[in-house]
Amino acid sequence: MATLDHTLNWDALTDESVRHLQALLRIDTTAQEGPAVQYLCEQLAIEAGIEIRILEPGSGRPNLWARLRGNGKQRPLLLLSHLDVVPVERPYWSVDPFGGEIHDGYIYGRGAVDMKDMTAKQLTLLLHFARQAQATRKELDRDLVLLAVADEECMSEFGMAWIIKHAPELLEAEFALNEGGGYAFQCGSQRVYVCETAQKGSAQVTLRAVGKPGHGAFPHSENAVAHLARAIYRLSAASLPLHVTPTVQRFVDKLALNQPRSKQLLFRQTLHPLSSGMALNMLSEDEITHVLRAVLHNTVSPTLLRGGDTLNVIPSEAFAHLDGRIVPGQTARSFLREIQQRIADPNVEVDVDLNSSGYECPSDTSMFAALEAAIAQHDPGAIVAPYMFPAVSDSRFLAPLGIIPYGFDPMMSEPGCPLPQQLAHNHDERISFANMGFGLRVLHDTILQLSR
Ligand SMILES: [Zn+2]
Repeated sequence: MATLDHTLNWDALTDESVRHLQALLRIDTTAQEGPAVQYLCEQLAIEAGIEIRILEPGSGRPNLWARLRGNGKQRPLLLLSHLDVVPVERPYWSVDPFGGEIHDGYIYGRGAVDMKDMTAKQLTLLLHFARQAQATRKELDRDLVLLAVADEECMSEFGMAWIIKHAPELLEAEFALNEGGGYAFQCGSQRVYVCETAQKGSAQVTLRAVGKPGHGAFPHSENAVAHLARAIYRLSAASLPLHVTPTVQRFVDKLALNQPRSKQLLFRQTLHPLSSGMALNMLSEDEITHVLRAVLHNTVSPTLLRGGDTLNVIPSEAFAHLDGRIVPGQTARSFLREIQQRIADPNVEVDVDLNSSGYECPSDTSMFAALEAAIAQHDPGAIVAPYMFPAVSDSRFLAPLGIIPYGFDPMMSEPGCPLPQQLAHNHDERISFANMGFGLRVLHDTILQLSR
C-alpha cells in the first residue's frame, strides 16, 4: 500500500470544496448546465497544467472535460459527475433550493447529494493534485480526467450519449468514479459502505388489454379495463422469479459477515428460490430487504394508465405502461416471457422495449482494494460491499467500453439525517460539512493509492 499523506491541511481543503459546492448550488442547472461549466472552467484555469475542453453538442447544454496529465505508467482514472439537477417543488423547501445556504452544519440545495457534492470534491482534488505536481515536480502514475456532464437526469442525449458518439477518445480510462453508491448503512452491528459495481437494465413494458365494448350500465366479463386491472394485480402481488447474479451473491456474503448465526442463515436463504421470499420477510433491515427485492428479480412498477374517456362507455382497449428493470444476464425476451406467464391472460398483450442493458463489473480490482483501504482508514471497522444499483446512471455508458465504473460518493451515515439516496430528488436536499470532509479524504486516498 502506498504511504498516504495525512499532513495536508484538511480543513482548508474541505472549506475549498464547500465553497465550490455552494457556488454550484447557486446555479440553477435544471436542464441548463452552461453557467456551471463556465464556473468549473474558471476554477480549473487557475492552476497550471490542466487541459480544459468544453464539449458542446450545439444544444446550449455543454459538458466539461479536463485532464491533469500523469506519467502514463497506468491508464487514466475518470472522475465523472453530472451537473444537471431535477426540478424542485419550491413550496416544500424550508430554504432557497438554489441559495447554497448553510444551516446547522449542512449545505442545502438541489443537487447537494445528486451530485454537485461529488463535482465539488472532484474539482477540489484535481486542483489539489495539480498544485502538488507543481510543488513536488512529480506526476501521478495516471492521468486524472474530470468529466462533468449535462443531461443525466433525462436521457443523457446531450451528455454522455453525445460524448460517446462524438469524442469517445476522451473517455479512455481504466476506472471511473461516479455516483450510485458510497453511502453507509448499518447491518446489525456492522457498518457497510456500498460500492456500486453493477447496474440493472431498464425497459418500458406496455400492456394492452382488449375486450368487448358496451354500455357502462350493462357490466360484462370481457371488460378491457378489468382485464388490465387483473394483469396489474398479478404482476404486483408477488415478485417475478429469482435471479442470483455474482454481484448480489457477493453483496449478500458481505452482509452476512459478522452477523449472528441465525441472521447469516437468513441472508443465505434470500438466494434460494424456495426460501427467498420468506427470508426477505423475516430480515429486520428494511433498507437492505428493499434493495435485495429489487436486485434479486426483474421488476415492474405500473406508473401510467390509460383506459376509456367517457364514464358510461366500456372501452375496447386499455393500456398500462410499467417501469421495467432487468437483472444483468436476462434479456428482453426472457423478461417478456416472465411477465406473460405471470399475467396468463390471452386478452392482454405485452410489449417490452429495452432502454439499456444492465452490466456487472468485477470487484477484485486495485480500485476496489483502494476504496476498502480508504474506508478502513477513515471509518475503522466498516466494510465495503459490492452492490448492484437497481436504477441507471451514466456509468452504463462506460462499462461497454471496457472501463470499470464504480459508484462511490463516500458518505458516513449520520444520526437524524436521511440516507443520501432518500435525500436525492427530495425536498431540503443537503449534505453536512463533516461528510464533505469525509468524502474528500476517502477520494483523495483512493486516488493516491491508485496512482503512485
Ligand atoms: Zn444523479
